[in-house]
Amino acid sequence: MINLSGKKVTVVGLGKSGLSACQLLLREGAEVFVSEARSDPSLKQAAEVLTRKGVSMEFGGHTREWIRGKDLVVMSPGVPFSSPPFQWAQSEKIPILSEIELGYLFCKGKIIAVTGSNGKSTTVTLLGKMLEEGGKRSFVCGNIGEPFCNHVLKVSEKDWVVLEVSSFQLEQCHSFKPHIAILLNLSPNHLDRHPSLENYISVKRRIAQCQKKEDYFLLNADDPLAPEVGKGSLSQKRYFSRTKKVKGVFLKGRDIFSSLNGREEKVCTFQGFRLPGSHNEENALAAIVAALLAGVKPFAVQKTLATFEGLPHRIEFVEEIEGVRFVDDSKSTTVASTLRAIDALSGPLLLIAGGREKNEDFRSLQHPLLKKVKRIFLIGEAKEKIRSALAGSVETTLAATLEEAVALAFEASQAGETVLLSPMCTSFDMFRDFEERGDHFKENVAMLKARKLHAC
Ligand code: ADP
Repeated sequence: MINLSGKKVTVVGLGKSGLSACQLLLREGAEVFVSEARSDPSLKQAAEVLTRKGVSMEFGGHTREWIRGKDLVVMSPGVPFSSPPFQWAQSEKIPILSEIELGYLFCKGKIIAVTGSNGKSTTVTLLGKMLEEGGKRSFVCGNIGEPFCNHVLKVSEKDWVVLEVSSFQLEQCHSFKPHIAILLNLSPNHLDRHPSLENYISVKRRIAQCQKKEDYFLLNADDPLAPEVGKGSLSQKRYFSRTKKVKGVFLKGRDIFSSLNGREEKVCTFQGFRLPGSHNEENALAAIVAALLAGVKPFAVQKTLATFEGLPHRIEFVEEIEGVRFVDDSKSTTVASTLRAIDALSGPLLLIAGGREKNEDFRSLQHPLLKKVKRIFLIGEAKEKIRSALAGSVETTLAATLEEAVALAFEASQAGETVLLSPMCTSFDMFRDFEERGDHFKENVAMLKARKLHAC
């Protein structure tokens, strides 16, 4: 806990996390300032709330005045390391915190922090449900969309916080110490913001950097890079694996075993688990290690596994039209997650991909799994780049809009095939976010279905 009463604090960035940090700071008696690069109408509501509470704000750019002489600067995850406010605060030796770390300093409960290139939201949601089913009050928050600072003052010593942490949030963590840290997997991601894969990996390592011997660091033994990240941390390492026996939780056939208590015990089974793909089994195994360490009983784990339906826009079945299935995986913004979707579904597939790229090498889609893809329909800013990266390995068609891509994919499909939206790119060139992109896909599929019914 830190004493913020009367302290001058600037929050840089007024997104959801920034607003939530402001509210916590105000409750703790700080004098709050906001510096925001944008000046669009979407900020109006937050600005009104904060003005009423006496917060001074600047919009449309950052000025040094807003940083100078402050006791603390809180950075939103969307603001990069290289941004001027960050540099100014550093040169004036003003302490810098991320919103996650600010929340951490006020948190009385135990924290389970989940990071990784893919699968974070699915894992934190599943783990939150396991804890609840096991009779433990839990708060699922962080990068999943609910800022930590919104909840932290409600958390008591007996509660658990399941925190989704992105690499952007970890960049600015210095004292953050979760009792259980989970690294799900590592694949190239956000290389538009991290200078190299090594830098991205070293940022992910920060999740465990302050852990002590009484803490746990859970790692995916099946991931080629993740176990490396465990090296050098003081915490106890536990593993999850689909393919081998490990100190932690692992699979034998469809049965899930634990060796956490020093002997091998069956915990539960994947029979009845509804999420598609081996990647979702990895996510579930990670959640199970954490749940068992938190004291959840195997029957509660089993019940949650059998009832969890997954999150929307992650390999979500949408509709079947004339024998053609439509699947929404709008949340996929990396080649790795799209390969997982291709692996999880039965082919032939008509893939809709493209959007705003994150400096990823799309040639990594040239994988044996690509054989399952009959044709790719490309949209958005990255369409030409993806087309040339895949030249000669798969047929591609360019479309002007998502609507056109859906129509073209359906035209090219036959009964028994699947049209999969799994973009490998962010949505920001054409949509507000991945949810709007996925919803737009679903609406187009629904309209297609209505047209077909009408034509009958
Ligand atoms: P995140 O919060 O890390 O973005 P999500 O659970 O929202 O993760 O899933 C994002 C995308 O990654 C979806 O396309 C999903 O199908 C895919 N995915 C989920 N888990 C994994 C995993 N363990 N490995 C690779 N891809 C995954």
